[in-house]
Amino acid sequence: MTTEPPSPRDRRHRSSPRHEAIDKELITRLLADTCEIHGAKDDAQAHHIRALAELAPAGRPPSDWARVMLDRRRKAVVTCDACHDRIHEARTAR
Ligand SMILES: [Zn+2]
Repeated sequence: MTTEPPSPRDRRHRSSPRHEAIDKELITRLLADTCEIHGAKDDAQAHHIRALAELAPAGRPPSDWARVMLDRRRKAVVTCDACHDRIHEARTAR
């Protein structure tokens, strides 16, 4: 029987209780496996942003997915594969 010494890499970065609550909520949403943008039950994945302000550039109406995030005031949204691609296309098109 071998006991490996704990490696420093096993230690996850410390997160605040608030972050943990958000992560748990996001996991629950991911497990529902439903795209929060158009409701498809297909390959759910999370899209994260750094700040809600990113979603509403001045003078532009927010896109459908940006509106979902703004309405919920969440910096993460559960999307299907197709919507996730669309989000990234929109972000790189600027
Ligand atoms: Zn979708």
